[in-house]
Amino acid sequence: MASDHYDDDDDYDDDFESVLFQGAIGDREVNLGGHAKLTKMALVPTKKIITDAIIRRALLLRINPRQDGSSSVKITIDGIDYPAKRLNKRMNQATIQMLKVLCGLDPKERKKLLKGGIFAEFQNCKYELEVHFVYAGSGVEKVIMYIQNVDLKLEKPDELGFSPEMKNKIRDITSDKSGVLLVCGSPFTGTTSTAFAVLRSVDAYLYSIFTVADMGTRDMTHITVENIREDEDFESAIKRVLRLDGDILFVDPLKTVEEVQTIFDFQNDICIISEFQAKNSIDGIKRILKWVEDPEIVASGLRGIITQRLLRVLCEECKRPYRPNPKLLSRVGLPPETKVLFRATSTDTATDESDDELDWCEHCGGIGYYGQMGIFELIEVTDEMSDEIANGADPQKIKTIIRENQMQTLQSEALRAVAEGKTSLEELQRIFSTM
Ligand SMILES: [Zn+2]
Repeated sequence: MASDHYDDDDDYDDDFESVLFQGAIGDREVNLGGHAKLTKMALVPTKKIITDAIIRRALLLRINPRQDGSSSVKITIDGIDYPAKRLNKRMNQATIQMLKVLCGLDPKERKKLLKGGIFAEFQNCKYELEVHFVYAGSGVEKVIMYIQNVDLKLEKPDELGFSPEMKNKIRDITSDKSGVLLVCGSPFTGTTSTAFAVLRSVDAYLYSIFTVADMGTRDMTHITVENIREDEDFESAIKRVLRLDGDILFVDPLKTVEEVQTIFDFQNDICIISEFQAKNSIDGIKRILKWVEDPEIVASGLRGIITQRLLRVLCEECKRPYRPNPKLLSRVGLPPETKVLFRATSTDTATDESDDELDWCEHCGGIGYYGQMGIFELIEVTDEMSDEIANGADPQKIKTIIRENQMQTLQSEALRAVAEGKTSLEELQRIFSTM
């Protein structure tokens, strides 16, 4: 498809460097000619909304309907929501229809959930915009757009922040070619990226690695992709991989009790890596126990649970040092000899109207943070932990085992990031208050 073949518009503002749309994801035809009136009205405003989100490093853009038919555009930067724009009733409708056309969907079509995607480019970076249109009835539609910089897919263990020790432990755990290694987390906390980083940590030269998961556009060398065929179920797909002599199998996020039971049924035949939703690792162990029903099976099969949180990284240009008092250090568990910590200059009240502040930092847009980092917890199922799981997994006892064995926890990793000046205690408070 010709690059940005529909970029000419009479109303186009030359000074405005704008995102280029390069076709719909999934081989759908984009028919701008068939929607000329709509395109004339809404293409440039739609580009502006998306360009603004990309410039401000947002990974998520939402169009939220209001009672009167108008809507508000919200963008999420490093996990925090900011208002971006208000759309009147007419522009709201036009923008949503324009997005559907750009996704190669019929603008008139309204189902409960419509999914599409747009290939885009801005300042020589490629983006994939995954767009969900959620129809809530009575003419009201919500739009959720995930903005992914294709060049910056943070799924390689080093980029994501896996320490060498953590990678070694993952290699240890998977070297048995048996057992279950799980990644858990809340929605939108980077669980899938972590699961792929775990998969990439496995030594692909030593083991034969298979996946029956949806790999999207990921390039995974040395991994054999076996899609689940239409005529087979999850269990038959695993059996087929076993016949191909697979050592390690990566499967899609676990959503049903049957899927969880199935992977534990195969715990002695192959090492299975997957992800599922849980608030934290201990909650994760509890959920697995409930689903599998037999604690002995979980105790013998589960090899480890990994969970992660994303922390905002302080802006290097405007972060402010301060000398922490000893009481604070002891309360949060930092070493008493800590001389300096950092905090953000600005609070989270920054919006696009906040340029009246005096020392407004251009680098972070006055937010005080720039980018995110992952912190990781790895609960290893040692013999002691396995016994405790077989006994029903008492949360307090599990915590004691974690502490006594100095396992890597979210708290220990987060404090390390604070001590290294990468993030602030305020950010920790924000993250851990929701756990
Ligand atoms: Zn800054």
